[in-house]
Amino acid sequence: MRRSGVPPSGPVLAWTKELPPNLNVTLFHVYATFAPMTASSSAMDRERTAVADACRRLGAEGLLIGTAGNVSVRAGDRVAITATGAVLAALTPDQVTVVDLGGEVVAGSLRPTSELDLHLGVYRRYGTGAVVHTHAPMATAVSCVLDELPCIHYQLLALGGTVRVAPYATFGTPELAEAVLAALDGRSAALLANHGAVTHAPTLDTAVENALLLEWACGVYQRAAAMGRPRVLDERQQLAVVEAAIARDYGTTHPVPPAQ
Ligand SMILES: [Zn+2]
Repeated sequence: MRRSGVPPSGPVLAWTKELPPNLNVTLFHVYATFAPMTASSSAMDRERTAVADACRRLGAEGLLIGTAGNVSVRAGDRVAITATGAVLAALTPDQVTVVDLGGEVVAGSLRPTSELDLHLGVYRRYGTGAVVHTHAPMATAVSCVLDELPCIHYQLLALGGTVRVAPYATFGTPELAEAVLAALDGRSAALLANHGAVTHAPTLDTAVENALLLEWACGVYQRAAAMGRPRVLDERQQLAVVEAAIARDYGTTHPVPPAQ
């Protein structure tokens, strides 16, 4: 897929409101260096294929159940998004519909997902490049119990730290979309009470990685909580992680220096 700008190769630290302003600016700048894809063709064929590939990967990773969930990627003012009623784990490019940012279908023969307004809302409010929504088992279980997933592991800082749980609302409604948009403030992930999870990122690959990371973290939380009360990283510990990640360019490979 063609991208404008050169994305870093590793995970990205999301902007967290709790951190000091200078670090917020630094992290937001790093996060924003991932530019969304630009439209490659009027039919968005490459984006539709990328969405189908992403869905099949999410299925292979165990994050999908039947026709539940939806995935989209933005290219300029066009969004390629999964069709309603499609089995995501076996999705084909012709089951991906292209809409404009107002929700009008511009390519494809199938009606887009019932969560279209949620996806478009994330693009409009956060200017991101891709959105992934699943009913993944660990994330959904946590969403049935907690009001937020606490920052129990430093990798959660890649999602912005603590992950909020948006209050329950019926699927496909403006109320659900608004609740999720609020929960995503300063975050690249949110849980939907008694429903599932949403992640977003400047690229589709990173949005999928964020979904996998959130599912892993929810699984860790459940295992830890089964043994006792999980410890939560405090603000000082979180700040130290951010500083170390910036200093060491965390998440990227580094060549061994040549022998002298
Ligand atoms: Zn859903």
